[in-house]
Amino acid sequence: MRESDIERYLVRRTKACGGEVRKLKWIGRRGAPDRLVMLPGGLLYWVELKAPGQKAAVHQAREHVRMLKMGQRVLVLDTLEKIDRVLA
Ligand SMILES: [Mg+2]
Repeated sequence: MRESDIERYLVRRTKACGGEVRKLKWIGRRGAPDRLVMLPGGLLYWVELKAPGQKAAVHQAREHVRMLKMGQRVLVLDTLEKIDRVLA
């Protein structure tokens, strides 16, 4: 299974929950998570998608730490099961 399959599933599941998904890219900085997931009620997740078993690259993980320190919810999701757990 490829990262794009995981990503497509995230988009489908989020919409099924009544949420919105946006693709992301920082301007002038590397390491932006792939997607911003917005759920009804104001819940928000920054999501880095990976193929099963893959980890965030070093520069991505570094950016995640910066965001986590700011209280952001940052997730690295590499399986359909993990997506189901987040959107349960
Ligand atoms: Mg990715």
